[in-house]
Amino acid sequence: MDFVRLLTATAADALSVLIPVACAGCGAPDAAVCAACAVSMRAPPLRSELTPGFPVWAGTEYSGAARRVVLALKNEQRTDVSRALARVLLPAIEHAIAASSGIFPQRITLATLPSSRAAYRRRGYRPVDVVLAKTGLGREHPLVWQRQPVDQIGLGIAQRRANLNGSLRARPRLDGRAFLLVDDVVTTGATLLEAHRALTAAGAKIVGAAVIAGTPRRRREG
Ligand SMILES: [Zn+2]
Repeated sequence: MDFVRLLTATAADALSVLIPVACAGCGAPDAAVCAACAVSMRAPPLRSELTPGFPVWAGTEYSGAARRVVLALKNEQRTDVSRALARVLLPAIEHAIAASSGIFPQRITLATLPSSRAAYRRRGYRPVDVVLAKTGLGREHPLVWQRQPVDQIGLGIAQRRANLNGSLRARPRLDGRAFLLVDDVVTTGATLLEAHRALTAAGAKIVGAAVIAGTPRRRREG
């Protein structure tokens, strides 16, 4: 073993002693996401429609290991899973752009959504931006909160939509530009619908959305 490799191996050993890593999907030691969980998350992207003409591509189903890994990123500061999740998100983005290329002649820009202030304060990062950074793709943040919605937990679909309606706005006018929305999880889709409304109101065209994971219910609908 040469000196550099020895040094690297020693540093890695020291780190694993200091910071024990367990798979966020199953708890197996020594990997942020183990090989078995990574394989279980890999699937052809699932397409569904939130409303007619607003397609959503999900990289995987929001269940099992994929759900646990996403929740670890969102709730347990496990940003070390972002590379594994980027491998799930990227095919969803690629499918969305490929499906849109004939319909939207203009360049498609990826757009992520703002976190609620409370969520950002709690985490210190935006989960989907951390994952998207690992794909190497650029993105913009064209949306800001116009009004902070109340916590969505415990609200039904209609209540979520009412709570979010009018809460986002696009910063400049975006006439003629085309966006693909990118988010971590789609469940009811209420946030994506509000982002769609705000961007459309500013003159933008929305290609659809790409997310890391979608709920099984959405898959059946799709
Ligand atoms: Zn695992």
